[in-house]
Amino acid sequence: MYTLPKMKYSYDYFEPYFDTLTMKIHHTKHHQNYVNNLNNALLNTKISKSSLKHLLQNLHKISKDKLNVIRNNAGGHFNHTFFWKILKKNCKLSGELKKQIIKTFGNVDNFKKCFENKAIEHFGSGWIWLVKNDNNLSIINTNNQDNPIMSKEITGVFGNPIIALDLWEHSYYLKYKNNRLDYVKSFWKLLNWEKANCIYLKY
Ligand code: MN
Repeated sequence: MYTLPKMKYSYDYFEPYFDTLTMKIHHTKHHQNYVNNLNNALLNTKISKSSLKHLLQNLHKISKDKLNVIRNNAGGHFNHTFFWKILKKNCKLSGELKKQIIKTFGNVDNFKKCFENKAIEHFGSGWIWLVKNDNNLSIINTNNQDNPIMSKEITGVFGNPIIALDLWEHSYYLKYKNNRLDYVKSFWKLLNWEKANCIYLKY
C-alpha cells in the first residue's frame, strides 16, 4: 500500500509565498486522495506494487479499464511527492545545474522567464517541468497528473525531472486567484536549488 509522505516542514513554513491553508489542503486532501485512489485501483489486481517509478514506466502493460485511474493517481502521487521535496526557503542556484542552465538559456533570468511563459501558456490543469535528457535541459508541460517519466507513447514527452511546479488551480487559487504568473514567480522564493542540483547530478 502506498502512503502519504510526511511533509518536511510545517504548513505555515511556506508563507508568504504559498499560504498555510493551501498547503494543508493540498497535502492532506489532494495528495491523500491520489494515494487512496491509487491503492483502491490496485486492490485485487496482479499489478506489481514494487515501486511507483516502475508502475509509471509500465503503464502500457495496464488493462484499458484500469489505465486512466492508475495513470491519474499514480501520477498524482509521484508528482506531489517530487514537488514537496524540491521546496525550501533561501536556496541559491549553483554548481553544475547553474552552468547547464546558463549554457541552455543564456542566463538564469532568461531561464525563469521561459519557465514562467510556458507555465502561463499551459491551458487547464497540469504541471511544468525542467527535465534532463542525456545532457540537455528543457522545459516541458504535462496535462493533468501526467509526468515526464511515463513513457513517451503515453504522454508524448520524456525526461528526468529536475524541477516541477504544480499548475492545478488547487495549488494557488486561494491566495493568487486567477493570477498564475504571481504564483509561478513566488515559486522562485521556495525552490530548493540545492536539491535540484543533486537530482541533476544523479542522471
Ligand atoms: Mn496538486
